[in-house]
Amino acid sequence: MLRFAPSPTGDMHIGNLRVAILNYLVAQQRKEPFIIRIEDTDKLRNIEGKDTEIMQILEKFSLPHESVFHQSEHLHIHQTLAIRLLENDKAFICTCTPEQLEADREASKAKKIAYRYSGRCEHIDKSQHNALKASGEPFVLRIKKPNSDIVNHDLIKGDIKTAPNEVDAFVILRADGTPTYNFACACDDMLSGVDFIIRGEDHLSNTPKQKHIQTQLGYEQESTYAHLPIILNTSGKKMSKRDDASSVKWLLEEGFLPDAIINYLLLLGNSKAPKEIFTLPEAIAWFDIENISKSAAKFDIDKLRFINREHLKKMDDKALSLLFDFADENIGKLAKLYLEEASTTKELKSKIDAIFKAKDFQNEWEKEMMLIKELIQNAPMIDNFDDFKTHIMKESGLKGKSFFKPLRLLLTGAAHGPELSDIYPLIKSYLLEIAS
Ligand code: GLU
Repeated sequence: MLRFAPSPTGDMHIGNLRVAILNYLVAQQRKEPFIIRIEDTDKLRNIEGKDTEIMQILEKFSLPHESVFHQSEHLHIHQTLAIRLLENDKAFICTCTPEQLEADREASKAKKIAYRYSGRCEHIDKSQHNALKASGEPFVLRIKKPNSDIVNHDLIKGDIKTAPNEVDAFVILRADGTPTYNFACACDDMLSGVDFIIRGEDHLSNTPKQKHIQTQLGYEQESTYAHLPIILNTSGKKMSKRDDASSVKWLLEEGFLPDAIINYLLLLGNSKAPKEIFTLPEAIAWFDIENISKSAAKFDIDKLRFINREHLKKMDDKALSLLFDFADENIGKLAKLYLEEASTTKELKSKIDAIFKAKDFQNEWEKEMMLIKELIQNAPMIDNFDDFKTHIMKESGLKGKSFFKPLRLLLTGAAHGPELSDIYPLIKSYLLEIAS
């Protein structure tokens, strides 16, 4: 079982989308279910509506899931499991105040050693629990640190051994009774039977903690992990909100096709892909997650543009025309003529819009444009460009630049572009509307 576990705390980052795509893809390869878990336990960071937005994005990218739930629905289960650890002596009540913890941190800093929990509350006797609860003094639950190293074989990062002190005795239930991320995540993966976890490498240090929680809860299923390297921007820094292209919403608004974005993200850090242009269903047949490089990959918008263009070329003409509010394969073909100079649907739309909008006659070719427009409005339907050109030239007496420049402006709304002889057959049935 695989899962995508987004936090509804902001616009979906391409790194998250990559995680979703890979979990979906591996689930397909293994013929196992793919589920969605909205990790909404951090109430202060949740943003209303982001959960719906995430689901809409998954739908746009055609990543169907078996089921979806909000992690907060499991609050009582998380609490019950935390208390079970307490009862089994695998967790303890900690009443350390934030001031005490801060002082411990400062002391470690002064000694230039890594901060570890002091162990101050580890031996609070169970007989004191009731009195403690009755006193109203705030407390958290901490899991005891492990007795031995935690070893994890990561499919991308290799073998990673974490010493007990590094795992440390960490908080699993906060003073307000809510679970921490690591605890909720480990419990839910266990309860859902998730045993293959693909996520960003920012979670690498959480893995031993989550494995420790599951072991202490008596879960014996070994999970497979793959932690994906971060994505860097062009200046070699981690792609952040400040980089427009890090937002999936932005990429879609700019006119990158979901299929092209998927194609690009599956190529990131993967030099062993057998081809450059492909769809997700094709990749399911050959993709190997272990081929992803363990070092960071650089996001290259020009490469994405190239891939987008290739997917646009392959798109069904009529389906493409729908993006410009037509249902006419000729308009799809017309858009494809512009793929030399445009690479997104937004850029193509501006070309198509320029053709269909009322023309601007305020330029050096005003007189000629008016004349040609009149002739087009009164001309019979002419099938091919040569006959059309001969007819208008003859009737107008214009030739050379004085004919072609105004004709192009009138037909395309632009001074430059693809050959008029290629454009004409695709727009001839709209000539009266276009030449106006
Ligand atoms: N909610 C976490 C995130 O969005 C993912 C946790 C996980 O995959 O384990 O980064």
